[in-house]
Amino acid sequence: MHEKEFDVIVVGAGPSGSSTAFFCAREGLNVLLLDKEFFPRDKTCGDGISGKSIKLLNELGINPKTVSGLEFSFIKSTTLISPKGDEVKIGFNKPEGEFAGITCPRKQFDSLVFNNAKKEESVTVIEGFNVTDVLMNKNQVIGVKGLVNGIEKEFKAKIVVAADGAYSIIRRKLNLFDSDSDNWIVAVRTYYDNVIIPDKESIELHFIDSILPGYFWIFPISETKANVGLGIVQSFVPKKKLNLVNELNKIIKEHPVLSKRFKDSIKLNEVKAWNLPIGSKHRKNYANGVLFVGDAAGLIDPFTGEGIGNALFSGKIASIAVKNAFALNDFSEATLKEFDELLWNELSEELSKSTKLMHLAKHRFLLNWALGKAARNPEIRGYLTQTISDSSAKKVGSMQFLLKVLLG
Ligand SMILES: Cc1cc2nc3c(=O)[nH]c(=O)nc-3n(C[C@H](O)[C@H](O)[C@H](O)COP(=O)(O)OP(=O)(O)OC[C@H]3O[C@@H](n4cnc5c(N)ncnc54)[C@H](O)[C@@H]3O)c2cc1C
Repeated sequence: MHEKEFDVIVVGAGPSGSSTAFFCAREGLNVLLLDKEFFPRDKTCGDGISGKSIKLLNELGINPKTVSGLEFSFIKSTTLISPKGDEVKIGFNKPEGEFAGITCPRKQFDSLVFNNAKKEESVTVIEGFNVTDVLMNKNQVIGVKGLVNGIEKEFKAKIVVAADGAYSIIRRKLNLFDSDSDNWIVAVRTYYDNVIIPDKESIELHFIDSILPGYFWIFPISETKANVGLGIVQSFVPKKKLNLVNELNKIIKEHPVLSKRFKDSIKLNEVKAWNLPIGSKHRKNYANGVLFVGDAAGLIDPFTGEGIGNALFSGKIASIAVKNAFALNDFSEATLKEFDELLWNELSEELSKSTKLMHLAKHRFLLNWALGKAARNPEIRGYLTQTISDSSAKKVGSMQFLLKVLLG
């Protein structure tokens, strides 16, 4: 059955979709926001909400500090631990009393961003709507079809924004999906209570031999509770003959240092796996009548695995491109290409630096050497602070600078 026509249909109401819907509504557009799930829904994640995400939350008018009942923890630093055991704590240069990021269970965080978009008068929301295909007129996408309560429905719009995550149905239907294992990470995560957490305001990235170039993480949620997981570039899984769940359990039970911290721990959930399309590759993020945002656009930081900040950010940029397309009344890919240009102008520098750091992590001796040096050299820690914690800042140190101080 064919329904009412909208200006924009956003498929997926995670951080990227809800951000897109909010910013498009603020541009005066009529938006239909669809998700196959019902909120609050969970999303397999490390639950680390970085400074970049906090900045975007501000623009969305959300302040986690003032949301009652929100379970979150302030984060002030990242601790990197080399395979040899050198520890580098990177503070986030925030004034006393301020925080750089938070950890917050995605079930709660995503609902917050979703409800914020839902509040906009010109946003219509349908939950439990599973998009199964795009509607085409010649080579132009003009809407979507899907199932809600077992009934097939169709909606039309001038532009469809695909915010449907790593396994994007829209990308698949338009033959734009890639499964290039050098540019995807696979990760597993669960939650533990009763873990020894030395600093509950620091997220920990442990580079451990068996899972290089990936890392094992402990992201504190409270004094004793943590989101725990590990991730690695997909192509290394067969190369290293890894079973990620076994590796996770092995680290927790047998790692000479970490196992002591998990000695009396209680596993709270089953281990879940998910894939991360990383921005080490520039994917095509537009077509006739379509834009891709968030994970559907493959914007995850290749070194840290952080994707929420860029998901929120890409929603904002999409709204600018959508507004311009309406001004021209042209929804062809020639016009929508502007989105990709705007987005990659902003993100290419940080994504390319993170890709280089990801490649560095492939070499155990380089990691030991770089983190060993960083543990002793404040200049290198400064570089890492800018690159990892504040990658959106324009004044990020160059790779040449890093090499100079490393070699100096
Ligand atoms: C294990 C793991 C750990 C991670 N840790 C972090 C971290 O600590 N910090 C960080 O910043 N990032 C992290 N990430 C990355 C982060 O989870 C993603 O980058 C982020 O969720 C992207 O948001 P999104 O809105 O684009 O996609 P999603 O959050 O995946 O949302 C997509 C939405 O689309 C909906 N959808 C999908 N298909 C359809 C369909 N056919 N019809 C209708 N709706 C549909 C889904 O139900 C979902 O609500 C991690 C990822 C993984 C896998």
